[in-house]
Amino acid sequence: MGVKSTAASSEVVNSHSDKTPVSLNGGRKKQDIQMLPPSTVQEVPPNQWTIEKSEALYRIEGWGQPYFSINAAGHVTVSPKGDRGGSLDLYELVNALKLRNLGLPLLIRFSDILENRIEILNACFAKAIARYNYPGDYCGVFPVKCNQQRHLIEDLVRFGKPHQFGLEAGSKPELMIALALLDTPGAPLICNGYKDREYIETAMLAQKIGQMPIIVLEQIEEVDLVIEVSEQLGIKPILGVRAKLSTRGMGRWGTSSGDRAKFGLTIPEIINAADKLRDADLLDSFQLLHFHVGSQISAINVIKDAIQEASQIYVELALLGANMKYLDVGGGLGVDYDGSQTNFYASKNYNMQNYANDIVAELKDTCAERNIPVPTLISESGRAVASHQSVLIFDVLSTSEVPFEAPEAPREGESQVISYLWETYQLISEENYQEAYHDAAQFKEEAISRFNLGILPLRERAKAERLYWACCHKILSITRQQEYVPDDLEDLEEIMASIYYANLSVFQSAPDCWAIDQLFPIMPIHRLDEEPTHRGILADLTCDSDGKIDRFIDLRDVKSVLELHAFKTGEPYYLGMFLNGAYQEIMGNLHNLFGDTNAVHIQLTPKGYQIEHVVKGDTMSEVVSYVQYDSEDLVEKIRQRCELALEDKQITLSESQKLLQTYEQSLSRYTYLLKS
Ligand SMILES: *Cc1c(COP(=O)(O)O)cnc(C)c1O
Repeated sequence: MGVKSTAASSEVVNSHSDKTPVSLNGGRKKQDIQMLPPSTVQEVPPNQWTIEKSEALYRIEGWGQPYFSINAAGHVTVSPKGDRGGSLDLYELVNALKLRNLGLPLLIRFSDILENRIEILNACFAKAIARYNYPGDYCGVFPVKCNQQRHLIEDLVRFGKPHQFGLEAGSKPELMIALALLDTPGAPLICNGYKDREYIETAMLAQKIGQMPIIVLEQIEEVDLVIEVSEQLGIKPILGVRAKLSTRGMGRWGTSSGDRAKFGLTIPEIINAADKLRDADLLDSFQLLHFHVGSQISAINVIKDAIQEASQIYVELALLGANMKYLDVGGGLGVDYDGSQTNFYASKNYNMQNYANDIVAELKDTCAERNIPVPTLISESGRAVASHQSVLIFDVLSTSEVPFEAPEAPREGESQVISYLWETYQLISEENYQEAYHDAAQFKEEAISRFNLGILPLRERAKAERLYWACCHKILSITRQQEYVPDDLEDLEEIMASIYYANLSVFQSAPDCWAIDQLFPIMPIHRLDEEPTHRGILADLTCDSDGKIDRFIDLRDVKSVLELHAFKTGEPYYLGMFLNGAYQEIMGNLHNLFGDTNAVHIQLTPKGYQIEHVVKGDTMSEVVSYVQYDSEDLVEKIRQRCELALEDKQITLSESQKLLQTYEQSLSRYTYLLKS
């Protein structure tokens, strides 16, 4: 895993980019903090925990601005309209929703955030267009694959109306959704993905009901099919091609471009397609060039390279006689999950304004040089639009900690190895902790080999292990104070980490954590005025050792443990996973039959907030039906077994009633654990 390059920011300076951050989402409001008289700030004893320390620790400003922050009560607050006022206390909101029988885990969607993201994206392009006197327009589309939920797509269409924001479909079912839901005159409907005759016919006929479908040819075979269908229907479509750029994305989706990419046409194929379209008298229809170098592009120079290559292709196609009008720059606009503003894979070294500036400026220059009219710019930003609007809240059920018992001195007659461990423990200091760590580990190994040989009794082995853990605790308390920790001690935090058992399924709610090591910011949503004294990893409810989260965002690289508060039995402890509105929901799976979580849509109102929609999570009955079980059959089977057991007098009548009742009730319940 690479260390983040901080040279990144200098790349931004050399670009067309504006170094000033997006003005619309400028500074976070810090009234609580600023209103404190200076003397109060000074009076805080140096070792007392403050919410400012929590802010810095969880990097909430880095990834959460302008939507998430911490209030004076030590709770996370949400400002769904960004800087334009109104905020909600997330902890109080969760408690209020629980009172409405919306149990955890709970996905909360803030429609105002979605609206704000669309506003900002459009404002950034508008600003870039004004700044560079670009004689053309920008028009975004939302790639439906990023989050297909109906309420979300409906919101997007509604919020996007003033900007003629369109939709992008990558498959037939997504096309069905987009065709039915998009009702913004003039908004593009980009038709991507593999296409058969039915797909193409549907897309072309949609022109007749006022849609503006643009069919993007991704495979050379689609060219002939499109020509054929167009002749048959007598419809002149708007066509585009997806180019395989030689510019490579980086990281996870780096292979979305390049010669061996799964999608798109190579340059010779594009020429071939243009010739075929000319022969079919359809060159007029050829109006769009599309490329997509991959999702979550972390480095601005990749975007610059891609746009440079694409703009050259664009003007060349215009010179070839195609009726070029649109350049669709695809997705890739990144999200800063760790707030480090670097080209690390979980971050990005540019902001939305830089992105817009680079695209607009490059097209302006290239088209001017070749005397070609500039295109309408289209972007298919999914992640950047949909990530921020949803937060997953889950609770901790229990914890398991590395035992700490005060070690005992060796006794007469006990093995030498106990004395060595005791001595090591006693002598641990700031000067020798590294050596002491290795000694303790070696003596523990020694104790185990002696035990295996039958020369160390079980009790002494237990004592040796306790002494070893005591050494680790003592060493850890020293290393936590150090600025620099030697490499060989880095795993100590992991070894000593507590396990926090979380009421969620990683496979259902954060599949990318498991599948592709994606990082999402995770933090407690309350108790932030209290020091998080523990370090832990999260274990989910599934019986799968991969069902855990043990990688967390950090300024430098990735943390293997998360700072958490001591768990108090009987008191709720809520954690939030943020920025997970893109890709997670649909990729989530039913591992161990944990189903969809409850979801709510919250909208800010002058008086507070309003619950727009409640989407109840799956019940057990629903999840078992996905694997072809019928709940009634299951109940019947249990009933029959109860009858048999009753006959054999193995169960009493009241026990059998109780069993049947619980069984039936469970089927209609949430698949997650219900903490009373
Ligand atoms: C996935 C995808 C997108 C969305 O990419 P983001 O990085 O989420 O913005 C856009 N266009 C195409 C063709 C895609 O496959």
